[in-house]
Amino acid sequence: MPTCKRATNKCAWLPQGSTTVCGKNSYGKFCGVHAMFARLGKSDGPRGCLGCGKGVRGQYQMCMDCGGRQYRSVVNQCKKMPRTPPTIEEFLHDRVSTKSI
Ligand SMILES: [Zn+2]
Ligand SMILES: [Zn+2]
Repeated sequence: MPTCKRATNKCAWLPQGSTTVCGKNSYGKFCGVHAMFARLGKSDGPRGCLGCGKGVRGQYQMCMDCGGRQYRSVVNQCKKMPRTPPTIEEFLHDRVSTKSI
């Protein structure tokens, strides 16, 4: 006899600008509200910034404070050249190595 299903999952939605997920008890991946957001927005919500872990929207997964702005301008410059823009990992790596000089 199966027992009544309990909400044992924790909502994995990362709110924009926050470093911690929602964490509400939920049946699926998200709690009720965030499951609705995900459905409406057709996305899993903001993703953690590669620099600081804050929830960010947009294609680069990097908040403005961590270099999202610079990265975007690098990509735009490369598009004009034309050159292949660096991946966000390459960009971060370059930034770190130039910083340490
Ligand atoms: Zn939630
Ligand atoms: Zn950041």
